[in-house]
Amino acid sequence: MQSLTDAEWAGVATTLAAELEDAAGHTYDLGKFHSHGGYHAEDQLIAALPGPAPAGHYRLLIVINRSPCSDISGIHKATGHQPCMERLIDLQKNGIGMTHTFELVVNYRHLYGHSNEERALNSLGVQQGSAAGISFLHGEGYYDVGVAQAVSQMET
Ligand SMILES: [Zn+2]
Repeated sequence: MQSLTDAEWAGVATTLAAELEDAAGHTYDLGKFHSHGGYHAEDQLIAALPGPAPAGHYRLLIVINRSPCSDISGIHKATGHQPCMERLIDLQKNGIGMTHTFELVVNYRHLYGHSNEERALNSLGVQQGSAAGISFLHGEGYYDVGVAQAVSQMET
């Protein structure tokens, strides 16, 4: 699968690279997707599925610079955009087109959001995804002290 560049890891745009892997270990590179114009990188990935892969069950590996947006913070309610975490949970549970099913593995570097509070709320979105069976790996940005403080304040 493709790698993210340093500029993409740190960029304002959400960028992801993805591939499918079948039970025999054969992989299908799905390429790289960037957010633009209110159309999130995850939306574009879902639109591109299943790519070249024949009907079957696959591990869907997503490497992405920030965690999928969730509805918990409410920041997308005004735009009507369906939160990417909801779409990925639907993909994990239902697959697509009666022909392809997926086990999602999402490797992200930072939590989504413009403030510590938003990032803390979106960490709960990641927990929703985990509860639905999605596997998450996270980078150093997950351990941001400000986010931990915001979560702590939410719990009081
Ligand atoms: Zn999104």
